[in-house]
Amino acid sequence: MRLLSIFTNSFAHGVHPAHHKGQTENLAIQRVPFGSRFVMPLGQHIGIPALAVVKKGDKVRRGQLIAKAGGFVSTALHSPVTGTISEISPQRTIDGSFKESIVIKADPFSSQRIDSTPPAAWEKLSLEEFIQTVQQAGIVGMGGAAFPSHVKYSIPEGAQIDDLLINGAECEPYLTNDHRLMVERAEAVIDGSEILRQKLGAKQATIGVEKNKPEAIKTLQDALRQRPSAPIKIAALEVKYPQGAEKMLIQSVYKREIPAGALPRDIGVAVNNVGTIVAIADLFSQGMPLIERIVTVSGPGIDRPANLTVPLGTSVRDVLEFCGGLNDKSREIIMGGPMMGFPIASLDVPILKGSSGILAFTAKETARPHEYPCIRCGRCLEACPYFLNPSRLALLSRNRRYEETAEYHIMDCVECGACSYACPSNIPISQLIRTAKNNLKQHPLEEAA
Ligand code: SF4
Ligand code: SF4
Repeated sequence: MRLLSIFTNSFAHGVHPAHHKGQTENLAIQRVPFGSRFVMPLGQHIGIPALAVVKKGDKVRRGQLIAKAGGFVSTALHSPVTGTISEISPQRTIDGSFKESIVIKADPFSSQRIDSTPPAAWEKLSLEEFIQTVQQAGIVGMGGAAFPSHVKYSIPEGAQIDDLLINGAECEPYLTNDHRLMVERAEAVIDGSEILRQKLGAKQATIGVEKNKPEAIKTLQDALRQRPSAPIKIAALEVKYPQGAEKMLIQSVYKREIPAGALPRDIGVAVNNVGTIVAIADLFSQGMPLIERIVTVSGPGIDRPANLTVPLGTSVRDVLEFCGGLNDKSREIIMGGPMMGFPIASLDVPILKGSSGILAFTAKETARPHEYPCIRCGRCLEACPYFLNPSRLALLSRNRRYEETAEYHIMDCVECGACSYACPSNIPISQLIRTAKNNLKQHPLEEAA
């Protein structure tokens, strides 16, 4: 039965920041030329870092395995470039910390064509073999969190996935990399969705897209018309932040809530970003492991914004130079979107699997507005999609009463920043909450006491 349909829905609370997508939404994806030095940190996501299987001096080909998964919640790493391992040592990464990394000196004279064989046909793989193949290809959630994808596909015995939900909301302002993927690679989105839907045994798939991406919706609709047997729907969603947060997306599309502490799979849903879905399609059609990703470069501090295919490990400096460099007004570089991203202190840090955007901001966007006392207006409560009490959490954090924040369910906070955005007193609520969460993670015994 044909299941193509359009419906509109949303979730409770949230905020409406300006989109700022016009700078890049119509810019086709370009490929960044290969640089000379690539840095691949062994730990690029939540979980256990990968284990290097190469040593200094080894020659590597583009797409070759350079580090294997270090455990179950871990994925492999592959060389983004043909070249020579120049060192394995701690290197600065985007959060400012130094992480053990494989550094590759690119060979300027070698072909950078990928020379890999697709894995066995996905139809012939058991679910366990499929999960292993995805893990060995290094595939993670491409929406920013970079959670190892295969972990999501490991369904506990007795559980059943009924619905595959594809996240094409891209609710962060400025970012348009998912939008361009849906416009330019709609067929790969459909192919990847069908591979994953069938492997997980889901009855149907839904692609959730915010309504401010009409071109993506239309292109996906056109692609679906060519695939009448695919049980895939498109959900046109209200433009609201954080529409792309997993639990919000599920609420918007299915009108179902996930209980605190539960996962989407507990209600029979698997959620995947469109970038992840395309990575799965590319793995099974071309044998392409995760060695590059789409990055949006935007903001008023850059004169030539772009959507780019960037080999992982490329430095932020090389990407910005490809875009003509920073202009005189640029003051701060943000990795990711403006709501959940963070500033970087050095341009000599690598693009990682979860790097969705590089934003160059001027004094106007980075000005820290004067902070006023809380006026108990309740706007942060109205903004919080998780129905938390952000003002209370911020106050407890400011007074270093971290243990008490647990009573207010601080760990349910996804650090979306909607509360900070809504606060008329300019209180950095989500930053204070992040501080308290980090403290609780570092001192779990005190939390339990
Ligand atoms: S408390 Fe957390 S989840 Fe709620 S709006 Fe603030 S940052 Fe988002
Ligand atoms: S939005 Fe700001 S001022 Fe209003 S209650 Fe929350 S913390 Fe206080």
